Amino acid sequence: GADYRVAFFGAGGVGKSSIVQRFVNGTFSDNYVPTIEDTYQQVISCNQKNVCTLQITDTTGSHQFPAMQRLSVSKGHAFVLVYSVTSLQSYNELIPIVLMLQEVKGSALSDSPIMLVGNKKDEESRREVEYSKAEKLATKWGIGCIETSAKNNENITELFKKLLAMEKKRQLAL
Ligand code: GDP
Ligand code: MG
Repeated sequence: GADYRVAFFGAGGVGKSSIVQRFVNGTFSDNYVPTIEDTYQQVISCNQKNVCTLQITDTTGSHQFPAMQRLSVSKGHAFVLVYSVTSLQSYNELIPIVLMLQEVKGSALSDSPIMLVGNKKDEESRREVEYSKAEKLATKWGIGCIETSAKNNENITELFKKLLAMEKKRQLAL
């Protein structure tokens, strides 16, 4: 198909919406606006001479709408799992999300590009999660990992580049 669907997951407040806004609009806001679910579209290149639509779903952080979360998973081609480096709790909250991905996607999950993202890397003095810890978990799960700052625009484009480069069925690029 011409659509490539990426879903963002993670606890409330880790910066999912900020990463997506930074990537899509190049903007950042200090105001916290809880999301229900929003979808954004970007045109990307596919198999060198074609284009396709990158559909980014910014999901709710809470477990309030499990049916909506599961629908985003079943429709999704790739996944971004976000925690904040300032919150060990937000990191631990990704474990049930991964279990849900495994349950909904089954064996197809091994074909899905997944990135583990430690956001708010600019808040070094408040850090609770070391990069080496995330790297170990990402290796165990067989997924990619990166630290970002939506605030300072660090590694946001790189996150999407790495994610798209993991897709084996088509050659995707920004
Ligand atoms: P979401 O609930 O995961 O969508 O989180 P938001 O994107 O709404 O961000 C939650 C709060 O964290 C907001 O006040 C943002 O301004 C702030 N925030 C998001 N990204 C960063 C970042 O990279 N660094 C810092 N310092 N704050 C951030
Ligand atoms: Mg949000």
